[in-house]
Amino acid sequence: MRPIELDSLFRPVENLPGIGPKLAEALARVTGREDADDTRVVDLVLLPPYNLIDRSKNPGIAHSPEGVIVTLTVRVDRHQAAPRGRANVPHRVFVHDETGELALVFFNGKQQWLEKQMPVGETIIVSGKVDWYNGRPSMVHPDHIVPEAEKDELPLYEPVYPLTGGLSPKVLRKAVASALTQLKPLPEWCDRHFITQHGFPSFDEAVQRLHAPEDAADLDPKAPARRRLAYDELLAGQVSLAMVRSRLRKLPGRSIRAEGTLRGKILGHLPFSLTGSQDAAIRQILADMTSEDRMIRLLQGDVGSGKTAVALLTMADAVEAGGQAVLMAPTEILARQHYASIKGPAEAAGVSVDVLTGRSKGRERTEILGRIESGAAQIIVGTHALFQESVVYKNLTYAVVDEQHRFGVHQRLRLTAKGQAPHMLVMTATPIPRTLVLSAFGDMDVSQLTDKPAGRKPISTATIPDERLGDIVGRLKSAVQEGKKAYWICPLVEESEKSDLMSAEERAASLRKAFGKDLAPLVGLVHGRMSGEEKDRAMTAFKTGETRLLVATTVIEVGVDVPDATIMVIEHAENFGLSQIHQLRGRVGRGSEASSCLLLYHGPLSETAHARLAVLRDSEDGFRIAEEDLRLRGEGDLLGTQQSGMPGFRLADLSAHGDLLEMARNDARLLSETDPDLSGVRGQAVRILLYLMRRDEAIRFLRSG
Ligand code: ADP
Ligand code: MG
Repeated sequence: MRPIELDSLFRPVENLPGIGPKLAEALARVTGREDADDTRVVDLVLLPPYNLIDRSKNPGIAHSPEGVIVTLTVRVDRHQAAPRGRANVPHRVFVHDETGELALVFFNGKQQWLEKQMPVGETIIVSGKVDWYNGRPSMVHPDHIVPEAEKDELPLYEPVYPLTGGLSPKVLRKAVASALTQLKPLPEWCDRHFITQHGFPSFDEAVQRLHAPEDAADLDPKAPARRRLAYDELLAGQVSLAMVRSRLRKLPGRSIRAEGTLRGKILGHLPFSLTGSQDAAIRQILADMTSEDRMIRLLQGDVGSGKTAVALLTMADAVEAGGQAVLMAPTEILARQHYASIKGPAEAAGVSVDVLTGRSKGRERTEILGRIESGAAQIIVGTHALFQESVVYKNLTYAVVDEQHRFGVHQRLRLTAKGQAPHMLVMTATPIPRTLVLSAFGDMDVSQLTDKPAGRKPISTATIPDERLGDIVGRLKSAVQEGKKAYWICPLVEESEKSDLMSAEERAASLRKAFGKDLAPLVGLVHGRMSGEEKDRAMTAFKTGETRLLVATTVIEVGVDVPDATIMVIEHAENFGLSQIHQLRGRVGRGSEASSCLLLYHGPLSETAHARLAVLRDSEDGFRIAEEDLRLRGEGDLLGTQQSGMPGFRLADLSAHGDLLEMARNDARLLSETDPDLSGVRGQAVRILLYLMRRDEAIRFLRSG
């Protein structure tokens, strides 16, 4: 239950005075909430301004510098209304102070309203920029006009918030100000000693300060109030991860001990020897698995670095120790592909391999489920279907999850809910900088595959404007005639699957036409709307060479392995994430032939867009590309905030607050050891923090755990 002291902060913003449904929707957009109902007072309270307008200068009319915002106390002398019918002549109001005279200028102003706002003979306060022309000062459309009696209404330092359509700065500022009135002092969730040591203000002071910047120093991420709030946000993130994590670890892991006999046999059946980093990763994983503590490890390796072999060889030990191992892939195609590549060497070593996906139906499914329950199935490859209710494992001790960035925290929990606590290896091709690993996954241990298997040829990458599409198609046609294979990746159009599909279908049709009657059958198509069988057929046809140009949408194909494909065309490359292109590009260059990647873009491109594509042209280092991506796009996009359950930060900025992240992590870990249920005094306060930072989902794990 949400602590009652938070009730007023969790009222919908619509309850604030002057905010109707339209505005509430605009506020949802600004604060990044899903909809108006879900936009609460607290979301405004924690909306940080990114700039400020300083209105504190009050030099007098004659001493007001050109183009600088000043605030002036003036007496109204006379109005000079715009002549009727002459819209381009402004309404002028002449005012003075003891230093001189000033004209306030209004275009298209309503005369009546202006005269009422600024009655002749009254003293008013105006704030805005002064322009000097021919030695005469004027102020066009003052930002503020208030009667002297309401002087305090005029903000001397005005915070500037991000805006969105349908919101004026003034309205947003008012909304934030009225949200702030709901903020009361709250119990301190940070360690007192820590607070003093860092000179942090209390939470409510920090929030008030956040919204009342007085100079650039207050806006600096290093300002104490900003650091305090960044810390709070990071702490909430780390605590919720720690809670999930401790739940994952709650059931003790079972120590897996094996001689490595099966592993040796399988290795003997692989057509290559391991790279140094594959070997090292395998040793790290096995060391973890022999311990009683449950392993939760991330295996990070660029596309083509050979993660599957690491998975297979470590699964061999789990099987030898008498357990079952699963390998979960995000898509049907990937699962089937893993199955195909693992089956040979595993079965040659006497290890059984089964595959279970959403497509396994009827008798086949019943049989597989029976084998899983009896323990006859030793390695099981599949999709989410592996963790449905109806799947009962005899003795699941090890789970490998491929392409982690597509799975969120929830899937990880579901995996554990099978009642057993398998050791877990999470494999990802997205090279995630350490700070991101920490913020997204908590303190997961990480193994990295840093060297590529021998014999890989570099991929030559070119960026080409799509006006030259005709040339490209011509070249592709001759390449295909020479027996080469190529992928053609179609862009993500908007967000709807339907339009993706259409663009892929249209592209396939136009390529077939360009190829002419004889070659048209060589053009294949695969997309997300196809049934499993259809996808399989399309992939197999491409593998066997029945088709040689495969038009595809991105969504499903990440990870396919067709070693003799040597050309990759990516349409509208400017719409893709850099890491995404890098991964797609990794589909070629796997065999002995030289490969190329053509990035087609639709010009004109912005400078940043050019720079981004250039990074891909100049580098094949996935890690560097990911860091550039991060730098150019911000951290949320790298993993895809939605898919990964990766927290998008509002108050914390990892480039400025990296040190705080480490501290928050340690703090969270300590807390989860000393007060795992968050029931102590500090624990209760931390619960409040979790709600404030919208990380309260994790609290449910406590209760159910
Ligand atoms: P990823 O890390 O992208 O999942 P895969 O596991 O699919 O990479 O491996 C890519 C290709 O490299 C596969 O065809 C695999 O058989 C091959 N491979 C893996 N390890 C080695 C190695 N040590 N030497 C040579 N080829 C390897
Ligand atoms: Mg892979």
